[in-house]
Amino acid sequence: MLTYLNQETIDKIRRAIQPERLLDTAVKLIEVPSPTRSAGAVADRLEQILRGDGFDVERPEAGWPDAPAVVTRLDSGIEGRTLQFDGHLDTVHLPFVPPRVEDGILYGSGVSDLKGGIAAAVEAMRVLRETSAMPAGAVLLTAHDQHEIPWGDGSHVNGLIDAGYIGDGVLLPEYLYDRLPVIGRGLAVLEVELTRPGVPVHEVLGGIDQPNVIVAGAEVISRFSELDAGLSKLSHPLAGRESIFVGQVAAGEIFNQAPIKCELSGTRRWLPGTRVEEVEQQYRDILSEVAHRFGVRIKGRFKLARDAYEIDQSDPLVGAFQAAHKAATGHELPVGAKPFVDDGNAFVRLGGVTAITHGPDARGAHTLNEEVPVDELVRVALVYALTAVLFCP
Ligand SMILES: [Zn+2]
Repeated sequence: MLTYLNQETIDKIRRAIQPERLLDTAVKLIEVPSPTRSAGAVADRLEQILRGDGFDVERPEAGWPDAPAVVTRLDSGIEGRTLQFDGHLDTVHLPFVPPRVEDGILYGSGVSDLKGGIAAAVEAMRVLRETSAMPAGAVLLTAHDQHEIPWGDGSHVNGLIDAGYIGDGVLLPEYLYDRLPVIGRGLAVLEVELTRPGVPVHEVLGGIDQPNVIVAGAEVISRFSELDAGLSKLSHPLAGRESIFVGQVAAGEIFNQAPIKCELSGTRRWLPGTRVEEVEQQYRDILSEVAHRFGVRIKGRFKLARDAYEIDQSDPLVGAFQAAHKAATGHELPVGAKPFVDDGNAFVRLGGVTAITHGPDARGAHTLNEEVPVDELVRVALVYALTAVLFCP
């Protein structure tokens, strides 16, 4: 494998990366606001940037005509593997922060999550083309909407996978840089609404005789807590344990009135090997038992974010990535778990290929203070380009 990556090639690629050009791309993406489900304008901007660089661009709808995905390829012309760079163009719904650069740090909405990483992936493609460093194979770049929950549901990337926009291995430039994630738990967001018939009523005017939505809600919480104690036995040394967690409860208007509604929400996380259908059924069984026992109506939402995943550490992408990382930084990454869910879970579970999440040491994802050192974006561009050189032949 290392025969493709001599010092001359590494130096050639390193020299070809243009930090100013990379930064300009990141700024151009950040300055177009793109909250989840409204990424059409920034997708158009990315298309414009890529066309300006002479890349051919496809815009498959992939189930989301409001913001068709952006797809481009770099083909060496020689048969080999395809390495995919995939990123989401949408950002969480927070007030827009325009891009600015200060002391080598880039700030602005989506810079950490995930426009900085996408700009690094674009720069890697430019450099691979300019240096003709790829001995064989191809690179496929895909960018899309619908990533951030609860506004998005992951359906856009699923649509791309269904439509065949998938490589033999995938890199995702999310803000995880200190480990090579090989496993991640699945996640579903739970939303439970308990209601009783009728109207709110004073405790002494019949309120006390109504089905009590708060007591029923407490029973749901208690049943979840019992389940969580059992789930704690399902544990993985890297990924941690399965869990069910309640983070929010709301009910009642005043102290002596019987309310008609109690709402609670939380999460369920599970390990690879546990089937999502069983996880959902377990949750629904608890809700229907409590509803029956307390005479209340319970509506339970089970919003699947991503299924659990695990990758095979003997996959060629793992070796190529580690060798590229070592060539770029002097060391390999320790193997670890992915603490969050991302589209990599979908590439592994739905697409059946190995996906590695690796991006810049960026700060402030999902806050108003996103920031990433430009040097980190340059490093990611180098790691991505070197991985392609090693993986694609
Ligand atoms: Zn992200």
